[in-house]
Amino acid sequence: MSEAPLLAVEHLVKYFPVRSGLFGKQRERVHAVDDISFTLGENETLGLVGESGCGKSTAGRTLLRLIEPTSGEVRFKGKNIFALPPGEGRRQRREMQIIFQDPFGSLNPRLTVERIVEEPLLTHKIGDRTERRERVADALSTVGLLPEHMTRFPHEFSGGQRQRIMIARALILRPKLIVADEPVSALDVSVQAQVLNLLNRLRREFGFACILISHDLGVIRYISHHVAVMYLGQIVESAPVAALYATPLHPYTRSLLSAVPIPDPRKKRQRIILTGDVPSPIHPPSGCRFHPRCPERMDICDKEDPAMRLEAEGHRVMCHLYTTGPVWAPDLPTPPNT
Ligand code: SF4
Repeated sequence: MSEAPLLAVEHLVKYFPVRSGLFGKQRERVHAVDDISFTLGENETLGLVGESGCGKSTAGRTLLRLIEPTSGEVRFKGKNIFALPPGEGRRQRREMQIIFQDPFGSLNPRLTVERIVEEPLLTHKIGDRTERRERVADALSTVGLLPEHMTRFPHEFSGGQRQRIMIARALILRPKLIVADEPVSALDVSVQAQVLNLLNRLRREFGFACILISHDLGVIRYISHHVAVMYLGQIVESAPVAALYATPLHPYTRSLLSAVPIPDPRKKRQRIILTGDVPSPIHPPSGCRFHPRCPERMDICDKEDPAMRLEAEGHRVMCHLYTTGPVWAPDLPTPPNT
């Protein structure tokens, strides 16, 4: 990771209220994102991985401010985006875009491709009609589509093409950060690599950083520089991609990795099957949240929260099995403007 990060997320928390009873009183809350911190340098890709419901999509939407945070800070280019005045916040949002999981559900079926891709330009009042047409045609050719596709509707395209339309739409404002939320999980396996390769090529060409959210460690490995593993709202391990796949430290990461197929048929990996369901994020387990399912659970695990420790260069883990590394805490410079 570079020294002055493009994005610095510090102690980000998002709880959703659970209301019940006659007057809809808030009785409980869902701990969707519970104190996560990480940084991302320019042109880097961070893979955010975990099972469905672990909070990774909520984290992605909260750091873009599509959902209001409960607490914490997100610094983009050194400025806390939660504290920006509305005008500056809008300008900032041009530089931070999202690609959603389901390209069919997220494309308005009544709009032409031109109108869909043009929309961010209209929202931010950029260019006249001719300029916008040129930029849409340009964005479409960048993602491997043709200018004549502009007049067509989403249902006339395959899943992979629809995701290319979403990428063109995200790119048209030339953002510095793209959050790609499960961008290939709705696609056939044969198309997934094409879309990931396209995203990676465009990242290099246009120089944006990317947060790739996925439940699949195989997908994450493909284009990420750094990986953060989430479980029940927390980041439990984070490391450069090579280190995480070579020496996974957290028992949860090891179980996720054991399910990823190895391309060499002579090598075999022992599958670690986790027992039990993911506990409710309304009542997360005491101590280590993974303890009810952990095959390496110890006496201390349900009693004390494990600290996040730095076990090697850039490799941190939250687990009682590790006691020697220094306790890790986000160490972000405080810029003078906030
Ligand atoms: Fe397993 Fe204990 Fe480590 Fe949690 S702290 S992952 S229960 S060994």
